[in-house]
Amino acid sequence: MDVLTVVLAIVGGLVIWLVLATTIRLLSTPPPELDPEDVIAVSQDYHCSVCGAELTMKSVNVQEDNPPKHCREEMVPVWRSA
Ligand SMILES: [Zn+2]
Repeated sequence: MDVLTVVLAIVGGLVIWLVLATTIRLLSTPPPELDPEDVIAVSQDYHCSVCGAELTMKSVNVQEDNPPKHCREEMVPVWRSA
């Protein structure tokens, strides 16, 4: 076993440890509390690019305004002229 193999094993072990520690920290951190009062009225249509389903959001929380998910994918906003 030469020095290069030992160095590669130590670096590989450190990388695996860092990835696992970061993953565990992310999974153990609870999401921030959302205030249900922070809701505004909207009328935004979304389209699922996987199955074609559409929905209209009537209100959204200003702290959590990511597009809704369908078929495990984020839905695409649809802009329609009024
Ligand atoms: Zn879908």
